[in-house]
Amino acid sequence: MEYSPIKFKEKMEKYNFNLKKSFGQNFIIDENIIDNIILNSDIDNNTLVLEIGPGAGSLTYKLAKHAKNVLCYEIDTSLKDILEENLKGLNNIEILFKDFLKANVNEDIKKYNYKKLYVVANLPYYVTTPIIIKFISEEIPVDKIVVMVQKEVGDRFKAKPNTKEYNSLSVYLNYYFVVKKILDVSRNVFIPKPNVDSIVVEFTKREDKYELKSSQVFFKLVKDSFTQKRKTLRNNLRNYDLETIEKVLKKYNYDLNTRAEQIPIEVFVDIANNLF
Ligand code: SAM
Repeated sequence: MEYSPIKFKEKMEKYNFNLKKSFGQNFIIDENIIDNIILNSDIDNNTLVLEIGPGAGSLTYKLAKHAKNVLCYEIDTSLKDILEENLKGLNNIEILFKDFLKANVNEDIKKYNYKKLYVVANLPYYVTTPIIIKFISEEIPVDKIVVMVQKEVGDRFKAKPNTKEYNSLSVYLNYYFVVKKILDVSRNVFIPKPNVDSIVVEFTKREDKYELKSSQVFFKLVKDSFTQKRKTLRNNLRNYDLETIEKVLKKYNYDLNTRAEQIPIEVFVDIANNLF
């Protein structure tokens, strides 16, 4: 019989399972949210889905019904029996019981045939940012990421220049992806109930990326520019070739007294490409 997330409490008792705060375990108990995530992900039978943290398998179950294959990473081995029972009969799911941050994903996906690689997950809040960064820094060839994250974190992901949420992470993410909010999610649909609300954010691979001579130089420039958010570029970048930087900034009507939070991505790209 189909597993319903609402029955999770019964399963916890049956398997004597305790939710672990240290693993960011807030499980979804509202099936509508899961259906909504699936609906918005346009997964089909050519899609390999990566799920980080299947928990009791509520999302995994529905992902498997739509995708070609689902590859999951779960850090908590005490979920093994519950997952086995809840996902019984579905033969397109593989669960690797390991820390996603230590996994060699490019190696793990080699054996699969697929046309699209998606990530769909309700992410553990304490490692949300490192998980997203891993996809970029390890060049995991994802086409789309649909993830549930804490609202504030999601706001930073999609932040635009001249807002207080705009930081180095917003620049990196928006360089590689088009970032869009899909759904607001109330804290009441989780067990245990977290202190904040969540949102579902979608990252779609940008086909019109600006050309970069070196992504390392770009990453470092952006990171250094935001070292002290309230300080000007002149201050944060004092070890750089300021003359060259000023020349580029002038083209866009900025100067060295500008702060990083005012600078759009294409200007960072142009500066980085001139630092050779
Ligand atoms: N997908 C389930 C749901 O929506 O009900 C659970 C989501 S819960 C927010 C996060 C899950 O990620 C937990 O199952 C937790 O054990 C797992 N997790 C935490 N850190 C992890 C890591 N570093 N690698 C893999 N899984 C992790």
